[in-house]
Amino acid sequence: MTVARVALVTGGSRGIGRAVVERLADAGYSVVINYLNSGEAATDLIKYLPANVRALPVQADVSDHGSVVAMREKVAREFGRLDLLVNNAGQTLAGDWCTLEPTAWERVLQVNLTGVFNCIQIFAPLLSDSDQGRIVNISSVYAGIGTGFVAGYAAAKAAVPSLTRVFAKELAPRVLVNAVAPGDIDTEMTMAAGPEFISSTVEKTPIGRLGKPAEIAAVVAFLASRDAAFITGQTIVVDGGRTLGD
Ligand code: NAP
Repeated sequence: MTVARVALVTGGSRGIGRAVVERLADAGYSVVINYLNSGEAATDLIKYLPANVRALPVQADVSDHGSVVAMREKVAREFGRLDLLVNNAGQTLAGDWCTLEPTAWERVLQVNLTGVFNCIQIFAPLLSDSDQGRIVNISSVYAGIGTGFVAGYAAAKAAVPSLTRVFAKELAPRVLVNAVAPGDIDTEMTMAAGPEFISSTVEKTPIGRLGKPAEIAAVVAFLASRDAAFITGQTIVVDGGRTLGD
């Protein structure tokens, strides 16, 4: 009997993370569904996964080192292995330069950047034991677009491709590390930005619509697959052409 590969998706109960969990479960992975606040959604999601898939919801704040260590203990106890880590958890915080509170700035960096570092550092040893260890980090096209009012978020997301390259070197050849930079995707995060923002960004997107969470999940699944065995340290932009320019 072959044992299923195990994937951990941070922020896996809703939005892009949920689509990634669904896609990986369909591909036969056992899934660890990390959440911070949405415990009910994480448990509910299990009902929609194939019946033979093992799924473990785990509460942890990725920005907190101790919390991620506790999550690793749960994963190790339940599955004894990890093959794929998807660093998807993220948080935006809008605010102009003069009103952004220092604590809010710190929080956004801790979740979007330190969270990625924590999970990689803490799960790398388990991933290194896999014969196909993979990490996929979720960055954003807002790492490169000079949009106003998201200083902390843009800065943190810009650092993710850099962390991706560093860890790709440090963890090669046992673990391949890549990133996906989505454009605007139809999730609560984008909806929270309001209708004016959405119509303006759709207008600037050659494909002419928001992306679907499943379209990001498909690229994550590719990067996790055997077909991506010679790709590491890369960031794949999935944005409907949003960043093509004139
Ligand atoms: P979302 O709908 O707002 O979901 C955010 C997810 O992150 C939730 O599952 C949330 O968990 C989790 N999370 C937040 N802080 C966390 C923490 N400290 N520890 C653990 N989990 C935490 O966002 P989304 O649109 O699906 O975005 C997913 C990722 O894609 C994010 O990294 C985001 O920056 C990135 N992204 C999104 C877009 C877009 O257009 N939507 C574009 C580019 C990049 P709880 O609900 O349990 O609190």
